[in-house]
This record gives sequence, C-alpha cells and structure tokens, in this order.
Amino acid sequence: MRIEEVQSTTKKQRIATHTHIKGLGLDVGGHAISMAAGFVGQIAAREAAGLVVDMIRQKKMAGRALLLAGPPSTGKTALALGIAQELGSKVPFCPMVGSEVYSSEVKKTEVLMENFRRAIGLRIKENKEVYEGEVTELSPEETESTSGGYGKSISHIIIGLKSVKGTKQLKLDPTIYDALIKEKVAVGDVIYIEANSGAVKRVGRCDAFATEFDLEAEEYVPIPKGEVHKKKEIVQDVTLHDLDAANARPQGGQDILSLMGQMMKPRKTEITDKLRQEINKVVNRYIDEGIAELVPGVLFIDEVHMLDMECFSYLNRALESSISPIVIFATNRGICNIRGTDMTSPHGIPVDLLDRLVIMRTETYGPTEMIQILAIRAQIEELLIDEECLAYLGEIGQQASLRHAMQLMSPASIVAKTNGRERICKADIEEVNALYLDAKSSARLLQEQQERYIS
Ligand code: ATP
Repeated sequence: MRIEEVQSTTKKQRIATHTHIKGLGLDVGGHAISMAAGFVGQIAAREAAGLVVDMIRQKKMAGRALLLAGPPSTGKTALALGIAQELGSKVPFCPMVGSEVYSSEVKKTEVLMENFRRAIGLRIKENKEVYEGEVTELSPEETESTSGGYGKSISHIIIGLKSVKGTKQLKLDPTIYDALIKEKVAVGDVIYIEANSGAVKRVGRCDAFATEFDLEAEEYVPIPKGEVHKKKEIVQDVTLHDLDAANARPQGGQDILSLMGQMMKPRKTEITDKLRQEINKVVNRYIDEGIAELVPGVLFIDEVHMLDMECFSYLNRALESSISPIVIFATNRGICNIRGTDMTSPHGIPVDLLDRLVIMRTETYGPTEMIQILAIRAQIEELLIDEECLAYLGEIGQQASLRHAMQLMSPASIVAKTNGRERICKADIEEVNALYLDAKSSARLLQEQQERYIS
C-alpha cells in the first residue's frame, strides 16, 4: 500500500446538506456575526462553540466531550461541523447516528472504534526523490548473519549512478535487491530509483518508467536525461481508518508495495484489532521520525440517546485515550430512558458520562432566520427562487421544521422545470408540500387514523 493510493473514506453524503457551513462565523473577539461563514443566528450556541474551539486548542478538552441539546433541525450538526472547520481545514469530521451501532454483523464497540478512527487524521509529509542515471556500480554489502550464525546476509546495496552532474553513490535497503534482480539490472543500464523520505519505493529501467508514468503529469516532473532529480515535499492527509481500510484490502502486485504494505505481508480482508495495532505501530514510528503528525478531528454522534450502556462505557474509556478525537454528542431528547436499562437520566446519558460533558443548547429559529438559511441553501444548490416563495417556505418551516422546508426545494425545482420554468414559484412549493408529509403531520395523521393501521 502506497500512501498516495490510500482512498479517503470520508462520509460525504452525510454532510451534503451542510456544504454552506464554512466555520462558526465569529469575529476576533469571539462574538457571532449575525450572518457569516454560512451561519445565521443561533448566536449563543455559536459563541459557546467558539469557546470550546479555544479550549480544544489549549488542550483543555482532554477526557471531556460536548453535548448539543436542542430541538430537531436547529443546527446541531452544522455547529459540530463549524467547530471542526474552525480547528483547521484538514481536520477530519466524522458524523454518525447513535443507532448505527446496531448491526447484526458488527459489534457495537467495533462500529464506535471505526468511527473514532475516521475522526483521527494523520498528516504525512513525504520527501519524494527520484534518481535517474547509468549504473556504474552494483554491489551487495554483506555482514555476518545474526540469525542462526551461518553465512552472510546482505545489509545494503550500493549503487553508483552516473548523471550529468557526476556520479552519486546510493546506499539502499536490501529489500530493493529482489526488485533489481527481477529487473535484471546490470552495470551500464540506465535506471530510475524512486524514494519516499529515504525509503526506496521502486526501481526500474527508464523506458519502463517513461511508459508507466505520465511524465507530463504534475507530480512526476520530467527528469532531464542523466540528471539526479530531487522532488519537493508532498503532504497528504489521511485518517487512521483510511489506513486501516487500505491495508485490509487484499494486496498484490508491485504497485501497492510500500513501507506499510511490506510490514503487513499477509493478505488481510477485514480490519482486525491486530491490524489496527500494526497500523498504530507504523503511525507511531512515522510520528517519532517526524514524517507524520496526528490531527485529532471531530466525531459527531447524533441521537446519542440511541446508545446503550455498553457503548457508553466504551466511550468513557475511549475519551481517556491519548489519541481521542473531539467527541460531540447531540440529542433532541429531555429526560428519558437509558437504553437497555430501567433507569432514566437527562438525555438518556448515564450520569458518569454526563459529568464529563460540556452542554450547549440550540434554539428554534424565528421566520426571518429560517428564510435567510433557506436562501443560503437555495443559492448553494443553484436554485432560482423568488421572495414570496422563500417567505412561504419560511412559514412551512415554522409549522413543520427547517429541514422539511429545505427538503421541499429540490422536488419543487423539478416541478418548476417540468412546467417550463427555471424559477421556483409558490405554486410549485404548494404542489410538493401537498405531496409530502412532514414528520409532525405524519404523526398527527397516524394518530387520527390509528384504527386503519396495524399496531
Ligand atoms: P437533528 O437533530 O434533526 O439532527 P440538527 O439540529 O442537527 O437536526 P442540522 O442538520 O444541523 O440540525 O440543520 C438542518 C439544516 O439546516 C442543515 O442543512 C443545516 O446546515 C442548516 N442549518 C441549521 N442551522 C443553521 C444556521 N444557524 N445557519 C445556517 N444553516 C443552518
């Protein structure tokens, strides 16, 4: 596995409705600007969130977590995302819903662990170097074998490379010997050697190099013939889960060999504790060597009341860990049952965990704020919508919820287009509003027509 090939596993869909949120929109004094960074209103919560960001920066949130309590669609997810963005543009944000832990195939704590690792970033700085030249010398350096005491083993490969700038001698790791033999490299051949932060990644003949890579591509600057070329630092942001997932893929072939891949030769198809421990070891070594740094992100757990005792005790322990992300819980419940027990507690959270929480409230929006938020979303989604229509959506939002009003915009735009219009008008909204029920009306309807449903 090469770092460049690690695919991001970010849950993009979950944050699709929050693409307008770019931060918390606070001024230098920490006061919320009424409309900034995509945020509208919710002043007190945004300012409180700003203080939390300061606490995180000063490392004063260790072992603690944040709880956002407030009615549905009052911006809890948006606030959590805003906090992550304030912490830095590459800080991972991993949203999940409490009920996600209940799967018939995966243990609850396993789901939590995966999400924890999705929320811990690793910034890897690699110095990519590419050498190219004619081989003038190729000699394995031998040492007495330590294992068993018989014979000798190769400690290094010495390669002399002649370029226009003179001859350079490179001392390479013995693992590269196999690759050189496979390529049948001999003195007189023109070869390339590609290394990342000192560790050789691949070697080959130059003609192979030219066909394998698009030399015009940005990351592979063409090397003038015979010259020894050094490339600049490459920074890559991945999460621990990205590394887990990449190493759990069945491996094979030259292209996915790397420092980490080599460490984990056996084929693995699922992420196990052992694999995670091995990844942690490599990560720790990277950190010690100064190649990588940890970037703790934000794990957002919505509907926290859906978690049970086992999850809560896992979370209690996980928060103590030295590499814990910032955990933000959200709930719209008041005093309720702690799942799986006969106890009740505020927000369905056991008191020992509640004790560790910094709690913030979010408030329901007034019509003006709702209209402003809807206008921002319409702009982001490139929907043309008139004032009257926005005001009407605001009314719907007040009666149902902001999310319901927001969700009507896309189908309304389809209705408008079907009617040959680019701009959404009030009639389009009325039409789709009659088609779809919001949660409140649906519940009311169920209650009224109870006898018609199977209970
Ligand atoms: P739930 O409890 O149902 O999960 P929530 O409190 O997490 O809801 P969000 O999902 O954050 O609510 O808000 C609903 C939508 O409104 C999202 O698209 C969000 O980005 C947007 N939104 C909410 N509050 C604001 C705000 N103050 N400014 C701008 N956009 C907002």
